[in-house]
Amino acid sequence: MKDLIHELVELYGPSGFEEPVRKVIQRYVEPLADEIRTDAMGNLYALKRGDGSGRRIMLAAHMDEIGVIVTQVEDSGLLRFSNVGTIPHKTLLGLRVRFANDTVGLISHDGGIKAEIRGQKLPDLGRWFIDVGAASKADLPVGVGDVAVFVRPFADLGERILAGGFDDRVGCAVLIETMRRLEESPHEVIFTFTVQEELGVRGARVAAFDLAPDIGLAVDVTPTGDSPKPDAPLAVKLGAGPAIKVADRGMIAHPRLRQALVQIAEERDIPYQLEVLSLGSTDAAAIQAARSGVVAGAVSIPCRYVHTPSEMVAMEDIENTVRLLTAFLGEMGIG
Ligand SMILES: [Zn+2]
Repeated sequence: MKDLIHELVELYGPSGFEEPVRKVIQRYVEPLADEIRTDAMGNLYALKRGDGSGRRIMLAAHMDEIGVIVTQVEDSGLLRFSNVGTIPHKTLLGLRVRFANDTVGLISHDGGIKAEIRGQKLPDLGRWFIDVGAASKADLPVGVGDVAVFVRPFADLGERILAGGFDDRVGCAVLIETMRRLEESPHEVIFTFTVQEELGVRGARVAAFDLAPDIGLAVDVTPTGDSPKPDAPLAVKLGAGPAIKVADRGMIAHPRLRQALVQIAEERDIPYQLEVLSLGSTDAAAIQAARSGVVAGAVSIPCRYVHTPSEMVAMEDIENTVRLLTAFLGEMGIG
């Protein structure tokens, strides 16, 4: 599982350019699925048929990650950029980026580095640039419209692991592992790997319309409230089990679905916690509002330092998320 997460987390896949991630995931799910396909936007669907007595369940994890897009090239060879998704403005200085063609650069700004070190106000994004080491415009291996991701390599800390982009490659890994372990299910389950979540759940909106599921569940990361000074009060803790979503900025999880997940966790002695998130949302918000409405919820993997250069997750939370999903999908569950 750790090797799978390591592989997925270091792939290049900013929103709208998820192909390298999709190719690798496809290789893993192809032998496990009864049917596999993609759509025009790039969502990947891997279907596992049930015995016909259950529901049609969509499980979603997003393949895309945040990044930056080049908006202008200066004669000096420096690249101006804009954000792809919500990027960590305060931690950009010195951060490295990697483009699709493997060009690496660093991020800096022309607002006075010393001023920033002294804690003064950060310049607007328009004053930041990427330096790929080119002496002039003519030397540049990348240009306007090219997209880069942040370079944040994987580190194995034992029970906890560190990298950028656990949001949401760890969810993708959980879906693959759940698919591996799910032997029998009454339900028809569509393991859906979505695109462009970070830009406003765009892929999931299309996927949920396409699939018209009875039930939708997103698997994503959620911030924790256990750091010394959290931004907002949050009950979720790292290592305390999967967080069953009650509500976030974009949705109220269907109470019956939430209760079914809680009941299964209790019956199987799987640790869990309840999540109420005042910021952010997941693919589940788009799934819930698809067509004439879908019974939707989410299971979140607790993650410290979300959307910063280094995110941290706990292996036991990942394992317990897989256990919870496998148990849920293996039973009749919600009536
Ligand atoms: Zn996410």
